[in-house]
Amino acid sequence: MRKLIIPLFSLALTVSCGTAKVSDGKTVSRSEASAGSVDKAFLSAYKTIKAEDLKKNLYVIASEEMEGRDTGSPGQKKAGVYMVNYYKNLGIPYPKALGSYYQKVPADFMRERGGSNLPDSENILAFIEGTEKPDEIVVVSAHYDHVGTKNGVVYNGADDDGSGTVAVMQIAKAFQAAKKAGHGPKRSILFLHVTGEEHGLFGSEYYSSHPVFPLANTVVDLNIDMIGRDDPENRGKQYVYVIGSEMLSSELKVINEAANKKTNNLELNYKYDDPNDPQRLYYRSDHYNFAKNNVPVAFFFDGIHEDYHKPTDDPEKIDYPLLEKRTQLVFTTAWDIANRPERITVDKK
Ligand SMILES: [Zn+2]
Repeated sequence: MRKLIIPLFSLALTVSCGTAKVSDGKTVSRSEASAGSVDKAFLSAYKTIKAEDLKKNLYVIASEEMEGRDTGSPGQKKAGVYMVNYYKNLGIPYPKALGSYYQKVPADFMRERGGSNLPDSENILAFIEGTEKPDEIVVVSAHYDHVGTKNGVVYNGADDDGSGTVAVMQIAKAFQAAKKAGHGPKRSILFLHVTGEEHGLFGSEYYSSHPVFPLANTVVDLNIDMIGRDDPENRGKQYVYVIGSEMLSSELKVINEAANKKTNNLELNYKYDDPNDPQRLYYRSDHYNFAKNNVPVAFFFDGIHEDYHKPTDDPEKIDYPLLEKRTQLVFTTAWDIANRPERITVDKK
C-alpha cells in the first residue's frame, strides 16, 4: 500500500456510496442450480488454498534475501524469479502475446511520473485461458515490490504486499487445479503481479496504458494489497475491508457478499468506501488504474496497523488462518465472475 500523499487540492469525486446491501443470495442459488461436478470442482480447488502453503511462500517472498523488494532492485528480481518458477512448476503459462512472464516497466516511464532514479523493473503475468469466453479477462492483482532497505535494515513487507503476492499465487494454483480436473474457468484469468506500487502505482499504470489484453474486455480487477494482519480497530476479528466494489458495477458487491456468505462469512467492512474518508484508500493501490479506465474493481485490505511501512512488517506476524480465509474469499469471487453466464456490467459512473 502506497503512503498517503496529501493532495494539494481536493478532487471532484464522482463516486457514489450507498449503504451496505445484504445479498439476496441469488448468486449462490444460481451456482447451486448447476450443482454436481462444478460444485465439486469448486470445492476441491477451494480447499487447495491453505495457510501452510501461503506461509511457505511468504517466508520466501518476505525473507531478508529479497532485501525489501524495492522496485528494480536485485532483491525484487530474485522474488520475481521465485514467482516465475512457481508458475512454471504448476504449468501455468504467461500470456502468449507477451512472450514471457515479464512485462518490462521502463525506467523512463517511471521517471516521467516522478519515480526518479528507479531502474527498469517488471510486472509479472501468469495466465489461464478461459474455456468459453477466452477474450473476457478477469484480473487478480497484487504488487510485489516494497520499500527496500534503509540504513542496512531490510523492510520485509510481509503484509505489504507479500500477503497479496502469495494470495494471488495460491488463487492461481486453485484455478489450475480446477482446470486439470476439467473445470477450467469460462473466462480467462490474468494473475498480475505489478511493480512500482510504493513509488506511485507505476506497474499498474504501465499495464493499464500498455494492456496485454484490451481493457474493454477486462471484466474486473480484484486487487489484494495487505490481507495478512489486523488493524487496531478490528483486533482479533475475522474481517476484511472491501473497497470500491460498488463504484462502477452494481453487481460486484452483491457477488462478493454472496461469495463471502457461501464460504467463511467474514465481516466485510466498507468504512473506506466513504469518499470523504481522509485515507483516500480507493486511490492508493493498483486497482485505481483499472477503475479510472472504467473496469470494475474490488480492493481487499486489512487496514493500517502498527507495522505498516516499518521494518517490523515480518512474516512471523502474519495471521495465516485469516490470510487463508481472505484468500479463499477472493478466489470464490473470482470463480463466480469468471464462470457466470453474463459478464458483470458497468452500470455506474
Ligand atoms: Zn506499502
